[in-house]
Amino acid sequence: MSEDCIFCKIICGAIPSKKIYEDDEVIALNDINPSASVHFLIVPKLHIASLASCKTQHQALLGHMLLLAPKLAKEHGLAGFKTLINTGAAGGQEVFHIHIHVLGGGEKSPKA
Ligand code: AMP
Ligand code: ZN
Repeated sequence: MSEDCIFCKIICGAIPSKKIYEDDEVIALNDINPSASVHFLIVPKLHIASLASCKTQHQALLGHMLLLAPKLAKEHGLAGFKTLINTGAAGGQEVFHIHIHVLGGGEKSPKA
């Protein structure tokens, strides 16, 4: 848990959210500013700043997150999807708690 982290606050319930999936290790939630008709985030409950901070001990957790992507995508009716992990400010990361974006169903304009 990192006190300044918006995803940690969502995970502990300090900020309300509508989770689309939860288990002991991860949550998934719809992106607040979607870039596609379906755009959700797979977020571990453990605070890890980015993919670049991951260690061997996180291997199973990363695998668990990746394997959830097709499962949840299918549940959302996606025949195919894109995954994205922005890493570091120079890689476009804005929330420094690792997460996988899952996008599908057609790109939306930013204001759609
Ligand atoms: P990234 O640039 O990879 O760090 O992406 C962070 C993503 O988190 C962005 O797509 C934001 O729209 C999304 N986001 C930020 N705050 C929230 C929130 N409270 N609930 C859902 N998604 C959020
Ligand atoms: Zn966090």
